Amino acid sequence: MVVGEVSTSSQVLVIGGGPGGYAAALRAARLGRQVTLVERDAIGGTCLNVGCIPSKVLIHAAELAHLPTTTEGTGVQLRASVDLPAVQDHLREVVSGLTGGVSSLLATAGVTVVTGTARFSRPNRAAIAMGDRVEHIEFEEVILATGSRPIELDALPLGDERVVNSTGALFSFATVPAHLVVVGGGYIGIELGTAWAKLGAQVTIVEADETILPGMDRRLARVVARRLPELGIEVLTGTTATGLDDDGVVVTTPDGPRSLPATNVVVSVGRRPNTDDLGLDKVGVRVDQRGLIPVDPSRRAARHVLAIGDITDGPALAHKATAEAEVAARTAAGLDAQFDPAAIPAVVFSDPEIATVGLTADQATAAGAEVQRFVFPLSASSRARTIGATGGHVELVADAAGTVLGAQIAGPHVSELIGELTLAIEMAVTAEELAATIHPHPTMSEGVLEAAHGLLGMPLHVAAPRRG
Ligand code: FAD
Repeated sequence: MVVGEVSTSSQVLVIGGGPGGYAAALRAARLGRQVTLVERDAIGGTCLNVGCIPSKVLIHAAELAHLPTTTEGTGVQLRASVDLPAVQDHLREVVSGLTGGVSSLLATAGVTVVTGTARFSRPNRAAIAMGDRVEHIEFEEVILATGSRPIELDALPLGDERVVNSTGALFSFATVPAHLVVVGGGYIGIELGTAWAKLGAQVTIVEADETILPGMDRRLARVVARRLPELGIEVLTGTTATGLDDDGVVVTTPDGPRSLPATNVVVSVGRRPNTDDLGLDKVGVRVDQRGLIPVDPSRRAARHVLAIGDITDGPALAHKATAEAEVAARTAAGLDAQFDPAAIPAVVFSDPEIATVGLTADQATAAGAEVQRFVFPLSASSRARTIGATGGHVELVADAAGTVLGAQIAGPHVSELIGELTLAIEMAVTAEELAATIHPHPTMSEGVLEAAHGLLGMPLHVAAPRRG
């Protein structure tokens, strides 16, 4: 140690305080380990501070603002107005309530929280930069949970005052943008674009792929793609943003170059793992070509080093990070644990919501299964009718024996249904067992029941099976 260096030690060091890191720290502490959590920015990470939580608050505010357009035929008239600074204050209030809650949980569990940027200096030691000071922490095990950051585009630099990333799109607009161009039609672009359209912006979404929501089940993506123009959103697929001009964004469409008027531009073209500045070579960890850290099922990347969340393979989602945190904390505490889920659900908080888990019919067929599927249209759901929802469906995919392999759902509040189907896949439930499970009436969950009956060839509220 260099004279003057301050060094402390911790049985478990966690780097990164997002839904991966804070959950790992809490669990390891509750398993009796002495834990230090280092976070360079804000406890709660991307998800609580600038991701899942504020985006869902904005989406909820946008839905309220949009309600007056949805009451036709109900006998109710509404008027809405949007006070954007107050909406943004509300976002910050919800975020600080949740991050404050996490901080008190960490304190109660006895986790030492250090504000600083961690970098490995030796195999069992990290240097923590805290302003003009550096502190060293020695560890028996380290759990890496440093998350990801938005990818930037040279053609659309954040230095231009019109251009923001997803964080800017949540917090930085002083007024509702007159013309908003969202570059990137993945789930974050779709969620933000839809929210701003409902808050009154004229929105154009630009996507380089042939369809929006690339990688998502096509039938689900189509439900959202049909709805976007109804909300006044222009969608340009097969289109690349190539730069800015005085009026807005220059794009190359399949029909040639075009200029899109834009008062504001959101760049939302994916995220990059935060693995490039950690000194990983000092702890014997190498990243793959995507910058991700390879791990074994116990989440071990190297002797003394575990990794979880967005810096590892798999969907970059908060619940995946938290589930991995449970495993990493147990491994760090010397217990036997494996991350081996049958399926990881994913939700897009679009209009309508879409949710998916397990295999699509195409994926199951490609994996060699003899596939059955049934699509129950929500137009036949009494609950959907009571709330005026017309589009959407519940699709179940099963193997020849009827074991549920996957589910793809579109409709209002379907984010709340996908948990049941994740459990079904995890427990290898059959369509018969799902159909024998009484679901409450009238609820959206009956769509699952109906689709299960359909898989058995005996649908109740649709006339004929729709088998693919
Ligand atoms: P993060 O949450 O990114 O946390 C990593 C933390 O590590 C950060 O706080 C960072 O400051 C810190 N850090 C990095 N390097 C260092 C270092 N060297 N030293 C100290 N600290 C460091 N996911 C969902 O599941 N559902 C959603 O609805 C959803 N919506 C989203 C909406 C938006 C707009 C965005 C951007 C993301 C959304 N996500 C959503 C994704 C989700 O936020 C991430 O998958 C999740 O936060 C990953 O958790 P993590 O713990 O791996 O990393």
